[in-house]
Amino acid sequence: MSPMLTSDPTNASPCFFAEPHEVAPDVLLFANFVNNYAICLEDALIIVDPGFEHLARLFHQAVRTWTSAPLRVVVYTHGHADHAFGLQPFLEAGERPTILAQENCLARFRRYERTHGWNAFINQRQFSLPQPMFPRSFIWPNMVFHDRLTQRLGRFTLELRAARGETDDACYLYIPEKRYLFCGDLIIWMSPNCGNPQKVQRYPEDWAEALETMAGLEAEYLFPGHGLVIQGAQAVRTVLLDTARYLRVLVDQVLERMNRGVQPEEIFHAVEPDPRLSSRPYLLPHYDHPKFIVRNLLRLWGGWWNGNAADLLPAPWCRQAEEIVRLAGGADAVVARGRELLRAGETRLAAHLAEWVTRAEPTHRGGQELKRDVYAARLGEEPSLMAQGIYRAAMNDARVALGQEPLPPSAGRLGIMRPT
Ligand SMILES: [Zn+2]
Repeated sequence: MSPMLTSDPTNASPCFFAEPHEVAPDVLLFANFVNNYAICLEDALIIVDPGFEHLARLFHQAVRTWTSAPLRVVVYTHGHADHAFGLQPFLEAGERPTILAQENCLARFRRYERTHGWNAFINQRQFSLPQPMFPRSFIWPNMVFHDRLTQRLGRFTLELRAARGETDDACYLYIPEKRYLFCGDLIIWMSPNCGNPQKVQRYPEDWAEALETMAGLEAEYLFPGHGLVIQGAQAVRTVLLDTARYLRVLVDQVLERMNRGVQPEEIFHAVEPDPRLSSRPYLLPHYDHPKFIVRNLLRLWGGWWNGNAADLLPAPWCRQAEEIVRLAGGADAVVARGRELLRAGETRLAAHLAEWVTRAEPTHRGGQELKRDVYAARLGEEPSLMAQGIYRAAMNDARVALGQEPLPPSAGRLGIMRPT
C-alpha cells in the first residue's frame, strides 16, 4: 500500500513527503512537499508539474529510473515556484515535450520577472528562509489555452480545463479512460490557500465552482498538488465538495454583510468557517487562515479603504504611535500594560501596544523585549504557517534590535517548507 494513498480521507493523516513510488497504476509520485507526477500511457510519458528547480535532478532521476518512455506532454497546473520549474534536466537530455499551461501562466512569469525582488522578500518572510529566494529562469509553456483544451495521446484523451482559485492561471487535467483527475493546488490537504496576506488576488468563489465541476467528472483517483492521492469515486467527491462548501460558507457570509453595508472591519471579525468542515483532515488551517480568505474577498469585491476615515489619508505610523505613547504617560507605561496583557493571554492586544511603543521609540529596550515576547507567543498560538512566518519575522526584528540572534523555524509538521 502506498504511503501517499487513501480511500478514507475523513480519517487519514496528511503526509507531504515520500520516496518516489507508483501511487496508482502507471503513475509515479515524487512527493517532496509538492507532488510531481509522471504518467506512462502506452509508450508516452506525461509529467504533471515538474516541481521545484532545486529538486529537478532528483525528479528527473526518479522518472528515468521508472521509465524510458519519451516525454511527450508536460502540464503546469499553475506557474508557482514549487510546480513549474523542474523541467530543465529533461530538456538537457534532449526531450522536446509540448508544455501546456493555462494562458495566464505567461502573464504570471512576466510578473515574476518584473517583481523578482518583492517576491523573494515575501517568500523569505512567509517560509522563514535564511535569505530572499525566488526563481529567476523560466521554462515557458509552448502551448497555452484559454478555457479548455483536449489532446489525443494514442488511445487516451487529455482534457484540460482552466480554473481560478489560489491563482488565476490554474488548470486541471482529466484522463477519462483512466478516470484520473490531476487537480493541482485546487486540493492541498489543508484549508484552501486562498487568502495569503502577502500575495496577489485569489478567487474563492471560482475555486468552489471548479471543485464542483470536478466533482461532476466522477473521477476514480484524485491526484492533488500536495498531500495524499485519493482513491474511490465517493471519497474523491467528498473531498472536492467539502472543500467547495468550506469556501462557499465564507463567501456567502462576506457577501451578505457587504450588501448590508457592514464595515470591512466588522465583517473580518464576524465571519467564521464551518466548524464541522474545519476539522476535516484535508481542511485544517495549517497553511493559510480562514480570516485571510475574508480579507481577500473584501479586496476582490471592495476597495482598499478599511472603513476608518482617519486611515484614508493617515498620519505616518510612527507619528500616531508617538501620540499614543505620550498619552499613556511614556514608553515604560505602555510596556508595563503590554506585559499585563501578555500575562493575561491577551496577545492580540499586547501586539498593538508592542507596535506602538517600538514605532514611537525604536531604541527602548523594554519595548523591543515586549515585541519579541509578544510575537513569540503569537507564533506559538497560530497553526497557520503564513501567520507564523510574519510573526516570526516580527519577533526576529525585535531580537536583532536587541542584539540577539534571530531564531530559525524548527522542522515541524510540514518539515521545512519551501516557496510556493
Ligand atoms: Zn503548490
